[in-house]
Amino acid sequence: MGTSKELMPKIDRTDIFERNKLYEEMSFATRAIEVGNYTDRSAVPIYASVTSGTTYQRNGDPSRDAVCANIASLEGAAYTLVTASGVASITLSLLALLDHGARIICHKDLYLWTYFFVREDLPRLLNADVVMVDMTDTEALERELKKGGTKLILTETVTNPLLEVIDLKRCSELAHKYGAKHVNDNTFASPYLCRPLELGCDVVCESATKYINGHGDALGGAVSTNEHEIYYKLQRMMGELGPCLSPFGSFLIMRGIQTLAMRMERHCDNAEKLAAYLETKSFVKNLIYPGLPKHPQHELAGRQLKRYGGMLCFQLDVDHETLHEKFIPELRLFKHWVSLGEAHSLISPKDADAEKGIPEDLIRVSVGLEDINDLINDLEAGFRKVIK
Ligand code: PLP
Repeated sequence: MGTSKELMPKIDRTDIFERNKLYEEMSFATRAIEVGNYTDRSAVPIYASVTSGTTYQRNGDPSRDAVCANIASLEGAAYTLVTASGVASITLSLLALLDHGARIICHKDLYLWTYFFVREDLPRLLNADVVMVDMTDTEALERELKKGGTKLILTETVTNPLLEVIDLKRCSELAHKYGAKHVNDNTFASPYLCRPLELGCDVVCESATKYINGHGDALGGAVSTNEHEIYYKLQRMMGELGPCLSPFGSFLIMRGIQTLAMRMERHCDNAEKLAAYLETKSFVKNLIYPGLPKHPQHELAGRQLKRYGGMLCFQLDVDHETLHEKFIPELRLFKHWVSLGEAHSLISPKDADAEKGIPEDLIRVSVGLEDINDLINDLEAGFRKVIK
């Protein structure tokens, strides 16, 4: 075996997506349950074996193939590769697509570890020229693209944590006009609320740890594309870097994804009601929710997302110490945990970041699946403790 080119055709697993066409006419909720499990069992077994003949687990296994097929169907993608975590889906995509010295343009507010990777590690590893732009202003994006030589733009459908909504269709059009690829992280929306490939993106990344799995018990990621050449490069990178999803992780995500549609509806119902409740409180400042008419991209969110999502942010009119030592400990249902998109409601206060525009003690809330009245009562108990 001389070069990777000779080996690649043998690990090109495009056949696992062939049956997806049979489900194309069915609804999202049905596909989430049906696609990928072609066994005669109610759950795809955990194939805990490193090899199966000449197939090696890093390149694929039956537990994982099921998840790949399922997510491809939900994203409306020809190909999906699942990864060990959400960040792996992003780093794998960037390393697969970028050459040494590449110029890339990123939205200014990115998930923390994506931000570190593009700001600190891509310049170190690839001598990349990384430009941060506020892509809610697509004219600013075009001004940067006009300078020429951009290989790729990187966005998030709804940004973490500021919940800015990026116009993916317009950004893709601009990227393609200037010869760049568009990679987008769809974690906050999930494929239920938004399918970026249908809007023109070339690659969509997801943290399956969040809404896709939805139960806070498995790390995972997914990267989807319609271009075979990109899928091929991703498979190659997977072979080299190895951030593959384990059979057990695949089993859990395959279980969680079956209820994605109904969970997302409930997340959105609860978030809308919570935002409406918080709006009535004078001590709640800077309430951010794409579903509120005052949100700067409310109209775009209405066009681009099926519903407005399960995430919101606000500030409380109290000092840092009161917030951390009195308000948060008083909450029983809103857990002070760092993740999002799971059954529990989660609360996560942020440190100020002037570059990204994050104010001190901005409270990010991942609204869970509990009864909305219990959630409101829980917050009220916290407010009673700190608001005189
Ligand atoms: N993308 C976004 C928008 C996220 O919020 C996160 C994690 O919070 C990730 C990616 C990374 O996902 P994971 O924790 O699965 O690596």
